[in-house]
Amino acid sequence: MPLKGIRIAVLGGDARQVIVARELHNQGALVKTFGLFLGKSSPIKQCEDLESLLRGVQALILPMPGMNENGEVYTSFGRKPIKVTKEALDSAGKGLVIYVGVAKPILFDLARGINARIVELAEIDELAILNSIPTAEGALQIAFEKTPFTVHGSAVFVLGFGRTGMTMARVVNALGAKTTVVARKEAQLARAFEMGFTTVHLVDILNSIGRAKIIFNTIPAPVITEGILEKISTDCLIVDLASAPGGTDFKAAKKLGIEAVLAPGLPGKVAPRTAGFMVTKVVSRLLREEMTKL
Ligand code: NAP
Repeated sequence: MPLKGIRIAVLGGDARQVIVARELHNQGALVKTFGLFLGKSSPIKQCEDLESLLRGVQALILPMPGMNENGEVYTSFGRKPIKVTKEALDSAGKGLVIYVGVAKPILFDLARGINARIVELAEIDELAILNSIPTAEGALQIAFEKTPFTVHGSAVFVLGFGRTGMTMARVVNALGAKTTVVARKEAQLARAFEMGFTTVHLVDILNSIGRAKIIFNTIPAPVITEGILEKISTDCLIVDLASAPGGTDFKAAKKLGIEAVLAPGLPGKVAPRTAGFMVTKVVSRLLREEMTKL
């Protein structure tokens, strides 16, 4: 029971958060939830309002996307988004730690108001690497469904060679794609070369992108511009994995008749159970470290 006695609130989200709540409970934590459905027979306390959820807790776990600009947390269990207020947060225990994928400025403001600490999970390499597995599977699923040809034998370009790009390139290559990696750092290109991929520096992309039949973009910057799109063949599919608004000029793509799909949140969509276990693994470790400090 590594988390014995630690008081945790799990607020909103989707099936991933259900796994997180259950697993933390299994590890001995005193878990309460709000905005989730765990089933009537669950031993976990399912609260009816935010104040009861937050009263006396040491840790609050928000869904990976956190809250919107209005301070609302989404829930995929048929409820309206849940507005998080400073008053409700005030009822949490002293030294509250808030775990979230990405924190918006409003969450930082709320946390500052009650002296809470925020841990952004998306920043943690371990979770980003683990998340790249369902992300690559989800991206492939989109490519399978949207192309009339196989990935095998096709020229596939992966833009960016960080945690997601590396997994994406490895996965498509394993399927027999002719894989090209595009990046701006020589070290990343050297690693991609070592792994057996064709490499193109981002500044030279115009000269080679015309070969692409599928492009997976992981660069969170406007890299697939109108100028680049003009070089891309109209039967090429773009799956943009970068966080919103993505790296593609979607308007220009539409105008040019190129199919481009922004595909956010794939781990939660294609493998919520696995993604939930991955979040739990990391959060559980962080909570144990927190307990050791105390
Ligand atoms: P990462 O490890 O930081 O990799 C990002 C890659 O993009 C690196 O190669 C980086 O190169 C490059 N890059 C960043 N900014 C650039 C710029 N302005 N110009 C050129 N290259 C640039 O990030 P990651 O974990 O792979 O995540 C990549 C994106 O995917 C993020 O937006 C993340 O939120 C998103 N994501 C989406 C999903 C989904 O379900 N769709 C799942 C996971 C992650 P440098 O090292 O040179 O900066």
